[in-house]
Amino acid sequence: MIPAVNDPTFSDLALAKPLLKAVSDAGYTSPTPIQAAAIPPALEGRDVLGCAQTGTGKTAAFTLPMIQRLDETFVEEATLRALVLTPTRELASQIGESFATYGKHVDLWHTVIFGGVKQGRQVRELKDGVDVLVATPGRLLDLMGQGHIDLSGIEIFVLDEADRMLDMGFLPDVKRVIAALPKKRQTFFFSATMPPDIRALANELLIDPASVSVAPISTTAERIDQHVFFVDKGNKTDLLVDLLESDDSIEQTLVFTRTKHGANRLVKKLGKAGIEAAAIHGNKSQNARERALGGFKSGDLRLLVATDIAARGIDIDGISHVVNFDLPNVPETYVHRIGRTARAGASGVAYSFCDVEERPYLADIERLIKQHVPRITDHAFPPSQPLPKATDLESRASGKKRSGGGGGGRRRRSGGGGRQRRGGRRGRR
Ligand code: AMP
Repeated sequence: MIPAVNDPTFSDLALAKPLLKAVSDAGYTSPTPIQAAAIPPALEGRDVLGCAQTGTGKTAAFTLPMIQRLDETFVEEATLRALVLTPTRELASQIGESFATYGKHVDLWHTVIFGGVKQGRQVRELKDGVDVLVATPGRLLDLMGQGHIDLSGIEIFVLDEADRMLDMGFLPDVKRVIAALPKKRQTFFFSATMPPDIRALANELLIDPASVSVAPISTTAERIDQHVFFVDKGNKTDLLVDLLESDDSIEQTLVFTRTKHGANRLVKKLGKAGIEAAAIHGNKSQNARERALGGFKSGDLRLLVATDIAARGIDIDGISHVVNFDLPNVPETYVHRIGRTARAGASGVAYSFCDVEERPYLADIERLIKQHVPRITDHAFPPSQPLPKATDLESRASGKKRSGGGGGGRRRRSGGGGRQRRGGRRGRR
C-alpha cells in the first residue's frame, strides 16, 4: 500500500500505459486517496472493500484496475467477464461513461442496461458481445430471466453504492444476482456507509479484502461552508429569490427539494420571479433530464432543482452552492447533498432552509456531522415562530448553557421512478 503522505502519482500505482494515458487525457494529475489506496491491491487481484461516497473518485478506483486486469487477459471474442451493479440509472450511465473515458486506449466492449426503457437495443448489444456490463438490479434480473445474460463467465464483480441498494429495497435483487455469479471471482464492494446489514453482506462476498476508506461522512462536511436560515415554509421561495438576486457569488447552484412536486412547483415560482431553473426527478423524461443537466453543466443554466434520487451520483464539477430548500429527515442525506459542492477536494457553500417542522432534522444533522451549522438570522424573511433553543453543539460553540436537542428523524425510503436513457456502448478501436 502506498502511504497517503507520499502523494503518489498514477504511475506509482502500477497502472499500464493505456490507462495512464487515459487518466492524463482526462486531465487528472494525481490519484485521489481512494484511488491510491484501492488500485494497487485491486491490480494484484485482491478483493476490495471501499468505504467511500460519490465525489471521492471511487468510480475510477474500481474501473481502472478492472480495465487493466481484463486487458491483461484479453480474449478475442468479447464475452461477459465483468459486472458492475449500481442502484440508479444515472449512476449506471456515469459508470458507462467512465469506462469509455478510462478504457479509450484498450480494446474492450461495454454496455449499460437499466429499466424504464424498451429492452430491444440493450438485448441487441448484449447479443453482439460485451466484456463489461454495467447494470441496475431489476433490468439485469429481467434479462437474465429471459436468457439474454449469462453470468457464469464473470471474473470481476463490482457492487457499487451497496448502502443505497439497501435503502432502495434492492437487497433481495442484489442477492439473487450474487447467487448467479461464479464463486471464483474478484469482488469490489463500495459503500458510503457501513451499517450492519451492509457489513454482513460484505463479509459474505469478500475474501480477505483490502479495506480502503476515505473521507468519513463528518469530515466531508467540514470542508463546506454551511449556513442555516430559519424561515417559514411559505417564504422559502422568496428567500431563495432574495439570495440569488443579492449574492453574485452564487453561480452553479443545486437546489434540493424533498418531492418531485416540490421541485416542479419551485421551478415554476422561480420562473414567475424571472429566474430560470430546471428540475430533474424521476417523472421527467430522460430527454428532459439530459437537457437540464447539459444546460447546467455548460453553465447556461444557473439553477438545477433536484430530488435526492435524481441527484444521486450526478457528476458535475464546479457547483458553487447547494441549497437545501427542504431539509432531509435522514441526516446522511444532508451530507450526500452538500458533498455535491465539494467534488474532488474543492470547497463550496451549502445553505439550508429550515422551517419550524424541520427543526428536529437540523438537530439530527448536527449530531451526525458533529458540527454546529451557523445560523443566519439577519435575512429578509425571519420566521414567525421564535427561534429554537440552542442545540448542544450551538451551546458549546457559543458558550451558552446546555439545552435539549431535537427529536429523532425517521428513516426515509428513497423512491425510484422515471424514465430512461439508452445504454451506451463504445466500439472497439
Ligand atoms: P466519483 O467519486 O467517481 O463520482 O468521481 C468524482 C469526480 O472526480 C468525477 O468528476 C471524476 O471525473 C473526478 N475525478 C476522479 N478521479 C480524479 C482524479 N484523480 N483527479 C481529479 N479528478 C478526478
